Amino acid sequence: MMAQYIEIKAANPDSLLFYRMGDFYELFFDDAATASRALGITLTKRGKHLGADIPMCGVPVHAADDYLQRLIAAGFRVAVCEQTENPAAARKRGAKAVVRREVTRLVTPGTITEDSLLDEGRNSFLAAYCAIGNRASDSRTGGQGPGTYREAIAWIDISTGEFRTGPVPTGGLGTVLAQIDPREILVPERLWADAAVRGAITDCNGSETLLAGSFFDSVTASDRLCSQFDVATMDSFGAFSRAELAAAAAVVSYVEKTQIAARPPISPPKRDQANQVLTIDPATRGNLELFQTLSGSRAGSLVATIDKTVTSAGRRLLARQIAAPLCDPAPVNARLDAVSHFHDNTPQREKVRSSLKSAPDIMRAMSRLALGRGGPRDLGAVRDGLAAGRELARQFCEQPANGTARLPELLGEAVAALQSLPGPLEERLTAALSDTLPVMRNDGGFVQRRYRNDLDEACDLRDESRKVVASLQAAYAQKTGIKSLKIRHNNVLGYFVDVTAIHAETLRAGDDENFFIHRQTLANAVRFNTTELAELEQKIAGAADRALRFELAVFDELCADVAAATAEIRAGAEALAILDVAASHAEMAAQNAYVRPIVDGSMALDIAAGRHPVVEAALKQTAQAFVANDCALGPGGRPSAGENEDQPGTDAAVSAKKPSRDQIGRIWLITGPNMAGKSTFLRQAALIVVLAQSGSFVPAASAHIGIVDALCSRVGAADDLARGRSTFMVEMVETAAILNQASERALVILDEIGRGTATFDGLSIAWATIEHLHDVNRCRALFATHYHELTALAARLDRLDLATVQVKEWDGDVVFLHRVVAGAADRSYGIQVARLAGLPDAVIARARGVLEKLEDGDRHRGPRDIAKDLPLFSATVHYKIPDLPSVDPALEALDELDPDALSPRQALDALYTLKTARKQKS
Ligand code: ATP
Repeated sequence: MMAQYIEIKAANPDSLLFYRMGDFYELFFDDAATASRALGITLTKRGKHLGADIPMCGVPVHAADDYLQRLIAAGFRVAVCEQTENPAAARKRGAKAVVRREVTRLVTPGTITEDSLLDEGRNSFLAAYCAIGNRASDSRTGGQGPGTYREAIAWIDISTGEFRTGPVPTGGLGTVLAQIDPREILVPERLWADAAVRGAITDCNGSETLLAGSFFDSVTASDRLCSQFDVATMDSFGAFSRAELAAAAAVVSYVEKTQIAARPPISPPKRDQANQVLTIDPATRGNLELFQTLSGSRAGSLVATIDKTVTSAGRRLLARQIAAPLCDPAPVNARLDAVSHFHDNTPQREKVRSSLKSAPDIMRAMSRLALGRGGPRDLGAVRDGLAAGRELARQFCEQPANGTARLPELLGEAVAALQSLPGPLEERLTAALSDTLPVMRNDGGFVQRRYRNDLDEACDLRDESRKVVASLQAAYAQKTGIKSLKIRHNNVLGYFVDVTAIHAETLRAGDDENFFIHRQTLANAVRFNTTELAELEQKIAGAADRALRFELAVFDELCADVAAATAEIRAGAEALAILDVAASHAEMAAQNAYVRPIVDGSMALDIAAGRHPVVEAALKQTAQAFVANDCALGPGGRPSAGENEDQPGTDAAVSAKKPSRDQIGRIWLITGPNMAGKSTFLRQAALIVVLAQSGSFVPAASAHIGIVDALCSRVGAADDLARGRSTFMVEMVETAAILNQASERALVILDEIGRGTATFDGLSIAWATIEHLHDVNRCRALFATHYHELTALAARLDRLDLATVQVKEWDGDVVFLHRVVAGAADRSYGIQVARLAGLPDAVIARARGVLEKLEDGDRHRGPRDIAKDLPLFSATVHYKIPDLPSVDPALEALDELDPDALSPRQALDALYTLKTARKQKS
């Protein structure tokens, strides 16, 4: 057996080998040591190899999913090796023959399908990256020559069958990987040497798998894909580039390699056009907290706030749409039409959402069935999904909302797909499957009575025989006079008569002493057999086996029927997800007063009374109101004028400037106190763009979004010590990327540029950055800063507007109004905010003194001169130590009390005394 193990392990050196032995998967040698550490299970030993003990550990087969999940999460790959014949068959080859075993599956992060290993609301993508051509020759020919370098990416979710491929867009590999968020990325070994490729891949959450070049061979790629999809040419699915075909073929070949014999129901690849998706670089994606907060939790992210879907497939679709907002107004508006429909038809929306709740995750169930890993419950999921789809189609057809109004295109297509669901298959599944279904098909009992005659007969016999056993037990008890006599069953003896030791002699010494045949003596029991019982045993076992065999045949037939209808079921499952997402956006909009944005090809970015979806939701929980603000970055846009809101443009800085005739967007320079809401305002504009272009209503009174092609931000930064970058370096790298790449259609969001260096260096960098954005990038931008000196630029740059966040001073404190109005802030109120944060009073008082000196015309003297006047900067500084709190009389009185010695009356008196003492103290 060890020889067999070593041979199989040698063929799978990079995976932990789960070697099936009876009811356990065993691991040996280094695998055992690694797994026992990773799983916290006991390391034992078994036999010897080359004179040394063989380390071993094992996991029970029935709990293997749980252990697999933990190993995969810890970054391991697992080869599952099963017994592929039964021990009886092996014995036929010789008494010592080892049961045949084969690796039936490689479990890797990107190829799992079990429900327990998957996140229901997240796609589990396996991606492949490929580049063809020579980067060096490409840079010489400017990307035009024959050596043009082509990069492509393909990604697949084998748990649902979704498959896409496309060129790597302008934002680069890191950006597209951040959008797809794959769990595993396949990359050719030769490209791993490329630092840029390696950097982008290691930065994303998925784990990388290096593959031989043959997986990506572009010459055979098309043939491999054609054979997978059983077509003569891939042209029928789209015009793929060589690199795209190579990446797609690599994914398919890898799925084949890991799934060994089984074939998941992969849909033909859909091709993503270059740059059809809003580019959001990984840093911006993280900072906007689209899917998780900076601290890593889903709660508090954009998706968690707006997700009102009721199905897993809907949840996944919504996540994909938010991850990849579109750059073409037509499909965005098609989605918005669907949302509008549900928004305007509340009763229908409620009905649809309630029907959707009963729709299970059909595609994941189908995938498991196709891979031979499914069970009766997966067939049940298909049955229930088909029923939910039929019910929804009926609802739409019977009750056209708004009388004769036609359904928007997207909903019309979805309903048509639901109408095309295979009715006969649903009927067959309903007729065949019981209401309550076991997880494992081998448990049996999942086929309804009266579905198949021969099955019913076998079941009757099986159940009847059980009754016969019961009556036999009664007969034996009567015959022997032993009331406690039982007929029991185990796997070793089969059926047997079980009596206590004191009754054993009665059986042995009966009239017919050969009637009860002794089989086993235990401490408290003696076991016998009878010829009658042995015959019955065979009959029962035969009937139960036959019944299970018939049930498994039904299972296989139903799986084949389901597989034959894959295309229709997939279309129906996608339709359910589309309905769910549209109804979810409508529900969110109705509950939270979101509006439909105008999305078009203009350069507008005009948001009236916009709100930050996540901050608003958080404030709502504490019954606080979010202050809505306008944002107008389109040509001619400008901040509103605060108190004189009815007469926009009365602010001096704004009215001095005529709206630009140039059809390009504007830049707002936002100054304002700390904590006033600048960052919130910046992020809310970006989030509204993300929502609008992904087809959702937005939190605003109205919004007009001219398509944004890239969202670039620099908000907050941290060290990236692993890559040898300080905080300031990270900030500058991000700023450089924006200035080098942002096109006129980009939306740039800059929150504090140049804060991590000396004041004048930072101010100068911020200054030059604004000029570059204005003159070179010419994009729409929001720029928040505490460098009030920058406001001087507004006089020179005609598309730069000044905005500030209002506060009021009250009794030395600052009151945040969170209103964004035209104008510039005169100060940052940093000291007041520091006081709110709890800086010691002594430090606050001192800081006020320093600030006064600095502001009182002392600026020209510089801190060195001022330090002479301020003891804080001299060696003789003395802090006033605050008085130590005196001892509280109430606490003293409390210490003296002995509750056990007090009567109720005395206790009440003591309470009054304590109260009085407390008053004295305060
Ligand atoms: P700093 O300059 O110190 O970074 P900031 O001006 O960027 O501060 P934010 O971080 O945007 O301030 O906002 C601070 C807090 O104020 C937020 O956490 C939020 O609770 C609240 N806030 C911001 N904007 C609004 C608003 N429009 N309505 C209500 N509360 C708001």
